Amino acid sequence: MLTWKNIIHFAVNGNPTPSKRVEKTETEWKELLTPEQFRITRLKGTERPFSGELCTSYDEGQYNCTCCNTPLFDSTIKFDSSSGWPSFTQPITENAIKYHKDSTLGMVRVEVLCNTCDAHLGHVFPDGPEPSGLRYCVNSESMQLAESN
Ligand SMILES: [Zn+2]
Repeated sequence: MLTWKNIIHFAVNGNPTPSKRVEKTETEWKELLTPEQFRITRLKGTERPFSGELCTSYDEGQYNCTCCNTPLFDSTIKFDSSSGWPSFTQPITENAIKYHKDSTLGMVRVEVLCNTCDAHLGHVFPDGPEPSGLRYCVNSESMQLAESN
């Protein structure tokens, strides 16, 4: 299980190696994604809180990256943080997500990205529920819910 200590370590010393990589040009991503998906995942945008359809969905399944379809999170680790964005306590696997120190907006936060295609997902905070204490705060537009088999 990952904790805040692991997250800081990844953000400072380097991320775990992904199982595979998907790389495309900006033009190729634009063709694949809706304008809102492109704005959020490729230009590091943020959707309005409570606007995403996955925010209030607790259907069982796997949350895959909108851009490359790699599994990122699972409905069993989703929780209601009341923040207005889908929230999780762990990634589906330790190398599914990559971490970046983000110093925009005058504060230091940890940005989370898809480790396979570098899609911007959201941020992770150390104020989640025990035992991990983590809260991955992720844009709905960055993920698609797939039924797990
Ligand atoms: Zn991806």
